[in-house]
Amino acid sequence: MRIDLHTHSTASDGTLTPAELVRAAAAAGLDVVALTDHDTTAGWAPATAALPEGLTLVPGAELSCRWYGGVDRGFDPPIPLHLLAYLFDPADPALSGELTRMREARERRAERIVEMLQADGIDVSWAEVYTYANGASVGRPHIAQALIRRRLVANSDEAFAPQWLGRRYRLPKEDIDVFTALRLVRGAGGVVVFAHPRATRRGRVVPDELIVEMAEAGLTGLEVDHEDHSPEQRAAVRRLAAELDLVVTGSSDFHGSHKTVQLGANTTAAEEYERLIASAVSATRPVLATKDRPG
Ligand code: AMP
Ligand code: ZN
Ligand code: FE
Ligand code: FE
Repeated sequence: MRIDLHTHSTASDGTLTPAELVRAAAAAGLDVVALTDHDTTAGWAPATAALPEGLTLVPGAELSCRWYGGVDRGFDPPIPLHLLAYLFDPADPALSGELTRMREARERRAERIVEMLQADGIDVSWAEVYTYANGASVGRPHIAQALIRRRLVANSDEAFAPQWLGRRYRLPKEDIDVFTALRLVRGAGGVVVFAHPRATRRGRVVPDELIVEMAEAGLTGLEVDHEDHSPEQRAAVRRLAAELDLVVTGSSDFHGSHKTVQLGANTTAAEEYERLIASAVSATRPVLATKDRPG
């Protein structure tokens, strides 16, 4: 079984449509793929409709969170973190309302970043960035495309350098509090995995004490095998997962051509996957395409 539990489509900042993504997942030899676009479930329906025979789709989302409670303990400003939420009820009013709020905040933030670029005489427009996002959950990768198009940078990596979107033209997102997110996803019947918890190359990471508290608040798993984790970081997260009896996952965090990583670059063991999905209680289940699938 080859299981990849973290991918992005054009519903957020990936470059393959949800339909293309599931076809690419089958072509890459995956048996199970999770679709985890940033702060949206918009890709679920088109991915399900295009699901190739024999491939299982796990509907999910990657939530942009922040640990606001750490400020009192000296973690100031609050540390951002990503939660992978799976198999929740997409119509749950509290959770879907929060996702809508987050996407709207992403739009306002991207628009302000464009204004910052324009104020420095850089010729990019919000209309262009909005077109690249094409109704998706908008993010810095869409702004990066405008910079590449203007030949101001050669590729996404350069666009994320400190003098561009990595620092100078970076604004914080209005992220959801990590414990609110856990409560909302569990309340909507889903399960939660902490994405790339030790990826220091992305910035500050949270201390183990927070992961202990998250486990008490309903966290089900930790993403261990991720390209942004060094071997030492993977070992540390694996040890913590064993201590806290959390599920261990591995995944590609595939973004199409916005990143170099390929589908299935890291995978999740079958028994860990089974444990994970067994913790979900909503009516949303992994979808398996078969010949006689209705509809
Ligand atoms: P945002 O959600 O707007 O803060 O943008 C963050 C997203 O940008 C991440 O989810 C990654 O997909 C992408 N990203 C971050 N760093 C890089 C990089 N160095 N090269 C390409 N994409 C990146
Ligand atoms: Zn992304
Ligand atoms: Fe992430
Ligand atoms: Fe991701």
